[in-house]
Amino acid sequence: MKTALSVENLSKVYLGDKKKATKINALNNITLEVKQGEIFGLLGPNGAGKTTFLSILAGTVIKTNGKVNVWGFDLDKNPRQVRASIGIVPQEVNLDAFFSPKKLLDLQAGLYGIKNSQKITDTILKLVSLDEQADSYSRNLSGGMKRRLLIAKAMVHQPPILVLDEPTAGVDVELRKNLWKNVKELNKIGVTIILTTHYLFEAQEMCDRIAIINKGNLVALDTTKKLLDRIKIKKILFKLKKFETNIILKLPNVKFFVESNDTIVVSYEKDTINFEELTNYLKEKNLKILDISIDEGDLEDVFIQLTKN
Ligand code: ATP
Repeated sequence: MKTALSVENLSKVYLGDKKKATKINALNNITLEVKQGEIFGLLGPNGAGKTTFLSILAGTVIKTNGKVNVWGFDLDKNPRQVRASIGIVPQEVNLDAFFSPKKLLDLQAGLYGIKNSQKITDTILKLVSLDEQADSYSRNLSGGMKRRLLIAKAMVHQPPILVLDEPTAGVDVELRKNLWKNVKELNKIGVTIILTTHYLFEAQEMCDRIAIINKGNLVALDTTKKLLDRIKIKKILFKLKKFETNIILKLPNVKFFVESNDTIVVSYEKDTINFEELTNYLKEKNLKILDISIDEGDLEDVFIQLTKN
């Protein structure tokens, strides 16, 4: 499978306060690859370096060191081809309110020098479910529609790679779902997707692979499934028949938390105890189990584990 993006030892140093000659290492020797057809997530806490990374790809920030290759083009040698190979969906909505979606896309196509005969404005509008709004004023579009229009704008020159920087920040749940549905559809027709999001459950649902960066360093790079497998702690919540809360519960390698007179949360490292042992123990203690819910953990747990100091 073709490599869509590869970066090798990518570093960015910003010069901070010039008098004090402070330096900010926004990215330190990042090496990673994104394969054609992937949905790849770039995650990290605030200030991790995500925007810097995407801005280097977009050509708006100049890297300090390292190699960047996009769709087979070296950023140093072929910056124009690199730009032509990516569509960037910015964090902020920056649309001219008085143009219709169709007009905006036609103008954007003009900027890329796309001939009328090669314009695919209507197809793109359909792809992002804005065909019915093609001729409305952009200012009359809902927040979610505006976001989708930004995606359409980034797709005008038909780049093989679409980069989305926090596309769902401040977008409500329903619209978010809709937006991701459109992104998945684009991916299905072959567009490689690179995205950043603050919502970890979204990354968990959307991404094939994830890179986590923290303070400019790559701290994890793996398939979403393997990252989730790293979660060692399992939690089980037991709803029980009312009991005395001063009960003493003890088992090796297991932590018991008495939450109320009918709820206990048990946490333990996966595979250190089996479920039957646990339920037998509770029965021995005359606790009657009414219901259970199991928390296998999510990407948030991995994220916290990897980004805490
Ligand atoms: P967020 O999630 O908050 O958007 P981020 O992961 O995108 O954060 P960046 O914006 O890339 O992080 O910033 C990485 C580091 O570089 C931060 O310490 C930031 O303060 C610093 N930085 C970013 N841009 C500049 C700049 N133009 N000049 C100096 N320092 C900068």
